[in-house]
Amino acid sequence: MSIISTSRRQFLGGAGALAAASTLPCPLFAQGKPKVVVIGGGPGGATAAKYIAKDSAGAIEVTLVEPTKQFVTCFHSNLYLGGFRNFQSITHSYGALGKYGVKLAHTTAAAIDKDKKTVRLANGTTLPYDRLVIAPGIDIKFDSVPGYSEAAAEVMPHAWKPGPQTQLLKKQLDALKDGALIVMVAPPNPYRCPPGPYERVSMMAHVLKAKGHKKSKIVILDPKETFSKQALFMEGWQKHYPGMIEWQDSKMHGGVKNVDAKTKTVKTDLAEYKAQLVNVIPAQMAGKVARDAGLANQTGFCPINPDNMKSTMDANIYVVGDACIPGDMPKSAFSANSQAKVAAMMVRGELAKSATFPARYTNTCWSLIETDDTVKVGGTYAAKDGKIAAVETFVSKTGETPELRKQTQQENMGWYSGITADIFA
Ligand SMILES: Cc1cc2nc3c(=O)[nH]c(=O)nc-3n(C[C@H](O)[C@H](O)[C@H](O)COP(=O)(O)OP(=O)(O)OC[C@H]3O[C@@H](n4cnc5c(N)ncnc54)[C@H](O)[C@@H]3O)c2cc1C
Repeated sequence: MSIISTSRRQFLGGAGALAAASTLPCPLFAQGKPKVVVIGGGPGGATAAKYIAKDSAGAIEVTLVEPTKQFVTCFHSNLYLGGFRNFQSITHSYGALGKYGVKLAHTTAAAIDKDKKTVRLANGTTLPYDRLVIAPGIDIKFDSVPGYSEAAAEVMPHAWKPGPQTQLLKKQLDALKDGALIVMVAPPNPYRCPPGPYERVSMMAHVLKAKGHKKSKIVILDPKETFSKQALFMEGWQKHYPGMIEWQDSKMHGGVKNVDAKTKTVKTDLAEYKAQLVNVIPAQMAGKVARDAGLANQTGFCPINPDNMKSTMDANIYVVGDACIPGDMPKSAFSANSQAKVAAMMVRGELAKSATFPARYTNTCWSLIETDDTVKVGGTYAAKDGKIAAVETFVSKTGETPELRKQTQQENMGWYSGITADIFA
């Protein structure tokens, strides 16, 4: 039995256990079925739509609103950047959700009317709902980095939303000649995928090293003073890419003052970098549709009740995934999927009277540093003191054996197969 199949089974086991724990649905609504609208077909929304429809066995009408017909995952997009995956392998279709009874509306949700309990779609349709699950992910705060804009992102990609941005970054990386300078402007907290920028840098270094670069450099300008799995990344960079990667915290560079797409120049308080590739990852906020509906607070993200993932702003709305304020959980696909299963259980409890259980959440984030050298961080979580709080956490250790790191990479690949099947198949 391979580790890949084991971890995939373990992953799916969690979902199955939750599904099996529910009782048969018993509709409360005399006239027609209760209706759920889900906005956003990422790990948060697609998981919620699938599990509400599947586990209510037709008792709840579920419509998933998502403009794209194929979902490209941000998770493992760094592996695509590093040449460990092709683009097709991180692209998924929604076709299988139909077999659970999920109706797909391939358009954008334009506005939510919380009083009337309706969602207006960009194609002109209005969908009524009994419960709304909203999972629009993040929007990029372009103006959080002076000089950056949507237009500048066509030259200096953020690649923090999937698809063309990721492909642009890879094209630019693959075209670099030895002696190139890459500058990454890292994001401030809170942002999606805390270890993501540092895994990305590792994958960029892997590509440069594999192409025999001796003089190319990567400078990370970070607004933070520490970052996720820092000791593990630093150890890995020293081991695999000595002298190639320079990380500067905010005290070292004094702040990013300007980025210029025309000249690919980044100015900090203390220096000016003329780069061949600039990857700007700005600050982030909940997707527009959630903010416009008044579901976000002053942080730009949406507060939720940790017992059930309900918005604290509206009792008929659940917010899952990167758009919510997840307490101690990181913003990750694993977290979004875990939160969505809690929301799905609670929605079925409300609309189909199925049994509910105290919310439990899990997450693990793996990061590939170099071929077969992968580290992880994760934990289990529960509602405590008004937030999703860590119950137990774990993190890889420095100095682990190559065998253990290789096994961790096999887990990582198994997790990806498992979670994408859990969301889309
Ligand atoms: C480089 C990188 C690496 C990562 N690596 C990992 C990893 O290894 N492991 C991990 O767990 N996570 C990882 N992540 C994080 C992960 O991708 C996100 O946390 C996850 O995608 C969040 O899921 P979500 O459903 O909340 O949002 P999203 O995945 O962003 O999905 C939101 C969906 O909502 C849709 N939408 C938005 N607005 C509307 C609207 N108005 N109407 C209809 N639809 C709308 C969008 O089209 C989109 O499809 C990584 C992220 C990045 C950037």
